[in-house]
Amino acid sequence: DAAAAPRTLAARPSGDRPIPAVLGSDLEVPVRGGRIVRYANLDYAASAPCLEPVSAAVAAALPAYSSVHRGAGYASQLTTARYEQARHTVRAFVGARPDDSVIFTRNTTDATNLLARSLPAGTTAVVFDTEHHASLLPWGDAVRLAPPAFPGEAVRAADEALAALDGPKLLVVTAASNVTGELWPIAALAHIAHRHGARILVDAAQLVPHRRLNLTALDLDYVVFSGHKLYAPFGTGALIGRSDWLARAEPYLRGGGAVRAVGDGEADWHDDPESRHEAGTPNVLGAVALAAACDALSATGWSVLVREEERLLHRLRAGLATVPGVRELSLWGPDHPRVGIVSFVVEGFTAREVAEALSADYGIGVRDGKFCAHPFVRHLLGTADGGCEDGTASAVRASIGIGTTAEHVDRLVTALRDLVSRG
Ligand code: PLP
Repeated sequence: DAAAAPRTLAARPSGDRPIPAVLGSDLEVPVRGGRIVRYANLDYAASAPCLEPVSAAVAAALPAYSSVHRGAGYASQLTTARYEQARHTVRAFVGARPDDSVIFTRNTTDATNLLARSLPAGTTAVVFDTEHHASLLPWGDAVRLAPPAFPGEAVRAADEALAALDGPKLLVVTAASNVTGELWPIAALAHIAHRHGARILVDAAQLVPHRRLNLTALDLDYVVFSGHKLYAPFGTGALIGRSDWLARAEPYLRGGGAVRAVGDGEADWHDDPESRHEAGTPNVLGAVALAAACDALSATGWSVLVREEERLLHRLRAGLATVPGVRELSLWGPDHPRVGIVSFVVEGFTAREVAEALSADYGIGVRDGKFCAHPFVRHLLGTADGGCEDGTASAVRASIGIGTTAEHVDRLVTALRDLVSRG
């Protein structure tokens, strides 16, 4: 009887802690004219700064670590426990099913490539041209869908493409665009995929730093993301999802840890996907950091995080709208919900000129280019082919998160106004 069950005293309810601080918020940088200013980091979508609790968790794990899984010594056991606890934390963070695999990878790109190598023979992937290259390119001869004009059109296009395919199929879609921040209708797309007997992979690299994701509730088959966009340092990501394909696939890397026994003939590979696809000594401290980031976000609570982000995002977009010649990019219009990412162009300037001036004159870090999403950015700009360095076919991206302040946002808007008025 759940009502009569004693309240657990050990677990502190999530969502009641203050928003954690990020490292580096006091960084000072030189700008033109010999001045020193506080750095305004508005490039979270590339890599977010490290949270203080993440740094503390890594520092706590540093004094006693050793290789996982095989050592009998105390440090080895402790390290194994920390690594498996991290896996457990990541599983809970994305609301995975109990029988899903949670495989640590180097990053999102590594995770999508691992899944691509694990597809049953003859699988066709269906992928939108709006994807980041990490989710666009690993699939070989995929069916490519043009950027849909509105969210319902995405569902209709996926429906049609999947209906036309025989054999195993995988729909690949990004939950939040790294170019526009716009949120995709992943629940509806999962529903359509399953209606056609397909599976769905959701690239959540830009969603999980900003919104809660529940793989079970959304009925997703696979989810991938990167630690370095989730307030942990570089080098760790995850692939989470259905175990059967992964258990039957060729080991991603051949080597120790993935193998049960090696004789004169073929090695006897582990069947459980975690062992099978994590050969070699894993990035334990990376996993500890990633898990600490998951814990810190959950402990703060999504309602607090989202409210703060929306406040700053509104301020940023409202400010940009007042700068003459600045045009924000969006696929589904300015009112479609999005996370804290805004890409824009400035009339009369290349994206590179804008980004360089923001850095050199105002100490503001943004990203310019095509954000590893060439087809999508070309579509948004209405331009023909052009390399990443082609400033005329590029945009500027400002992205925010924990640690962003109103001063950072206002400084960007003022700087752009200055830049435009100087001509
Ligand atoms: N997917 C999306 C939506 C991204 O924004 C990125 C990074 O920019 C990636 C995948 C690739 O991430 P990583 O470089 O960590 O592999």
